This record gives sequence, structure tokens and C-alpha cells, in this order.
Amino acid sequence: MKKKIAILGSTGSIGKSLINILKKDKKNIEICLLTAHKNYKELFKQIQTFNVKNIIITDPNSYLKVKKLLKKRKINILSSLDGLNKIFIKKKIDYTMSAISGFSGLKPTLDIIKYSKTIAIANKESIICGWSLIKKRLKKYNTQFIPVDSEHFSIWSLTNKLSHNNIEKVFITASGGPFKNYPIKKFKSITRKQALKHPSWSMGKKISIDSATMMNKVFEIIEAKKIFNLRYNQLEILVHPKSYVHALVKFNNGLLKILVHDTDMTIPIFNSLYQNNEKKIKSKKIDISLLNNLNLENVDTKKFPIIKLIDTLPEQESLFETIIVSANDCLVKNFLNNKLSFLDIYKILSKIIKKKEFQKYKSIKPRNIGQIRSLNDYVSLKIDTLCV
Ligand code: NDP
Ligand code: MG
Repeated sequence: MKKKIAILGSTGSIGKSLINILKKDKKNIEICLLTAHKNYKELFKQIQTFNVKNIIITDPNSYLKVKKLLKKRKINILSSLDGLNKIFIKKKIDYTMSAISGFSGLKPTLDIIKYSKTIAIANKESIICGWSLIKKRLKKYNTQFIPVDSEHFSIWSLTNKLSHNNIEKVFITASGGPFKNYPIKKFKSITRKQALKHPSWSMGKKISIDSATMMNKVFEIIEAKKIFNLRYNQLEILVHPKSYVHALVKFNNGLLKILVHDTDMTIPIFNSLYQNNEKKIKSKKIDISLLNNLNLENVDTKKFPIIKLIDTLPEQESLFETIIVSANDCLVKNFLNNKLSFLDIYKILSKIIKKKEFQKYKSIKPRNIGQIRSLNDYVSLKIDTLCV
């Protein structure tokens, strides 16, 4: 039987990597749903390749363009992600990829769990802000969850079927981004173009900036804590510019397991899709010279003070994580629009989250998506007014 697949965010970097994997297995898969925001041309190509019957495209202009392009075809075209319920009424899909960027990914991720046997989640906002809601739905609908980010996929692979009680410590690696060896005195004049140029990974714009500031690692520590039910003091970051090792897990039986793979998101995505080794992937030969020189080191917090935010996070799941994500999201947008300098991102972020009105959220647990969304709107508005 054909594997039924849905991709939320099929036109993005993660979505396209998955599409490329699926192209090599066309006869065994059926794509039930693709979603995009603006990139109707890429979506159109994907529809043609896979004969997709359901699509959602959320940008109004792109929706109209797609409608026109597909007017003679029998394709269900929706303009809102709230329409998921209209699509999945019959059998559960085998594999869903949640790869929309930003907060817009949270609601559809929660909604689609009900219709999925397995959900692979790349969208960070879902995990950081909505983990308790996701966990509840995974249990309710008996859906398997697989993290897609290379570090979390590695931890998942190393610890799969083991209890979190067996884990002593988890180390996630960081490439160090484009500014690892850049002189600190030049940080004030870092440009958008420089910040977008990641040395080892090819990714969407937002996550590339988060890698440059190293906020991405703050997010990954929060995600790892939630997914694997750990304490913050069990998690550490190691800088590893070659990005060959993705995670190291020290178990309390004395074993240390390390997961290594090429710097290519195709590998975790491929393995989340084919869990039973039923398919082969082409990968590079083992690079012994890289293995001999792993060069793992601590983060330079003078250059990347954003890492210190981890020390301010509450152990229990709270809405404070939403504040950090929203504030950073908005600051990155303003940096990309040339309204802020690179250093302003951390400067404003650290100032904002210290405010009493936000600190109080450290003891408030997220109860529903409405609460997360309105807090996100409020924080974004607050930052935008600071940036005009
Ligand atoms: P991209 O920016 O490349 O792609 C984002 C996708 O989401 C596109 O399909 C885009 O549509 C869609 N989208 C954007 N805004 C909206 C919106 N408002 N409503 C609906 N759809 C929207 O991101 P990535 O693929 O790089 O990342 C996706 C997620 O995965 C992010 O949360 C990221 O942090 C996470 N991630 C990414 C990694 C990577 O290597 N890229 C690694 C680990 C995690 P369109 O293009 O048509 O406008
Ligand atoms: Mg990562």
C-alpha cells in the first residue's frame, strides 16, 4: 500500500528536502496535502510532480494565482490552514511533516496530529511554546512523534525506547555560525548579508539569523529539555564547527554515545520517514580526518551572550518561553528589514524579558493555543513599537 504523506510548509527548505526524497520513491507514496504561503510557483511544480489533490496556500495573492493556474483541474484548494478538518475525514495519513516557519506552524501542527500516524516536527515554535498541548494530543490520538532538527533527531535515535531516567547528560553541538572567528569589535557592523551566510548549513532566513546570534541553540536546549523530559543542568552546548557530530548522550551506565552524519538535513528527514531501514540513502564516505579532529569546545559567551538566557529559564513549562520566542522572532524580522543592528537583537531582547510584566509568565503554564497566540501578538506589538 502507498504511504500517505502530508507536508505543512512544502515550499520551504525542510519541505523541499522532503520532496526531493519523495521524488525517488514516487511509486510508493501518495501526497495527500501540501501547504505553502507565498511560493505558488514551487507549489505548482510539486502538484504537477505528485498529482496532489489537496493544497492550502495562505497568502491571498498566491491563492488567487494558484486558483487560476489550476482552474481546469479537480484539486481541492484552500486558503486557510483552519481548513484541515475539511480534508482529513477518512483514513489517517502515515507521515506528516510539520515544517511551516514561525508561529503560524503551531495551530496546524496541533490540528493535524489527530489525522496522522506519525508526525515529524521541524517547527520550533510548536515544540517550544506548545509542547504540553502537543504531548496531550499525541497521547489522545496515539500519534508517534519524531523530532526533525538534526540535534534532536540524533538524541531521539540515541535514546529511542530508553527512559529519560537512563540519561545523565546530553550535549548538543553548534557550528558556531558565521561569526565564530569574527573579531568581537566588528560585531557592531555585521550586515544582513553576512549574518545570512551560514558556514555549514543551508536553511531558511529566520533560522540562519538565529544561528548567527546563537539563539538557535537556546531554542534547541529548550526543545531538548521538553522533548526528552530533562533538567536544564543535564543539557550543554558544545561548539563543533565541522558539524559532523550532532549530539552526544552520556548514560548512567557509563556509556557515551555519539551520533555523526553529513551536514545535510536530508539525513534526519529521510530517517524519520523510513524508520525500518527499508530504503537506502546516498551519503559521503566516512571522513576519518574529521573524526580525528572533532574540536569540541565551549561557547564564547562574550561573543554570544544570548546563550546566557538559558540560565534565566524556569524548569517547569511556562509561557515565558513564548515571550522569548516572540520577542526574538520580531527582532529578527526588524533586523532583516534593516531597522535594527545585529547587536540590537540581544540588547533589546535581554531588556524586554527582564520586565516585570513578562517575568510573571515564568510561573504560568500554557493551557491553550489562544493564550499562546495572544501573548505572541502582544509581545510582537510591543517590540514593533520599539523599532519604529
Ligand atoms: P523556510 O522559511 O525555508 O520555509 C517555511 C515554510 O513555511 C514555507 O513553505 C513557507 O511558505 C511556509 N510559511 C511561511 N510563513 C507562513 C505563514 N504565515 N503561513 C503558512 N505558511 C507559512 O523555513 P525552513 O524550512 O528553514 O524551516 C521550517 C521550520 O523548521 C522552522 O520553524 C525552522 O526553525 C525549523 N527548522 C529548520 C531547519 C533547517 O535546516 N532549515 C533545521 C531545524 C529546524 P512559502 O515559502 O510558500 O512562503
Ligand atoms: Mg539544529
